[in-house]
Amino acid sequence: MTTDLIPVPATVRIAVRGGGTFPVRRIYCVGRNFVEHAKEMGMTAPTSKTDRGHPIFFSKPADAIVTDGIVPYPPATDNLHHEVELVVALGQDAPAGILPVADAERLILGYGIGLDLTRRDLQAAAKAKGLPWDSAKGFDHSAPVSELIRIADIDDPESLELSLSVNGRLRQQAPLHQMIWNVAEILHELSRLYALRAGDLIFMGTPAGVAALRPGDEFVARLADVVELRGTVIQY
Ligand code: MN
Repeated sequence: MTTDLIPVPATVRIAVRGGGTFPVRRIYCVGRNFVEHAKEMGMTAPTSKTDRGHPIFFSKPADAIVTDGIVPYPPATDNLHHEVELVVALGQDAPAGILPVADAERLILGYGIGLDLTRRDLQAAAKAKGLPWDSAKGFDHSAPVSELIRIADIDDPESLELSLSVNGRLRQQAPLHQMIWNVAEILHELSRLYALRAGDLIFMGTPAGVAALRPGDEFVARLADVVELRGTVIQY
């Protein structure tokens, strides 16, 4: 018999409206999914479905999830940015092989709203040198997320609007139909690269309006009137 030599890390769990919890396995993020956000970052973005190539993906560790809205201001940055995003939660494993777009929705357990918090100064430095983004994106407490809403309880989330207010002022607002790749297309593209499994979360990318958060800031992220995430940034 073998013995664990250290304690087994706790599984991160997100509440599901109506009961139960969602244990998180992996977090995949889409890097550039709104044209206006790509422009504000000084990048070009595809303008048609035929010339858009493949999306950019990166990951965060599962234990970056924050479920109580309390975000300690992270170390090693002077420019912590908010990115409000639709969050997709997978309730089933994908079958072997590449997932057809038409089969993608059946994997989805539900949706939430979240923030892809970003150390923008570290990201800019990494981009300038052609280096990886990990320290800019995958840090502790970098993925606050709302409760999840089951797919049966939400009518066509991609027809809805997401928004973010900070200290009562609107910072980001956009309809999800503006996404360059929709949810089913993103699951298809992810399946070319990874074996998608129950417990995986996908952060779908942010619209324009990203900006800095400071200690003391209070934020409210909303997916229309379906679900919201309230939180605050505290001094580390
Ligand atoms: Mn993002």
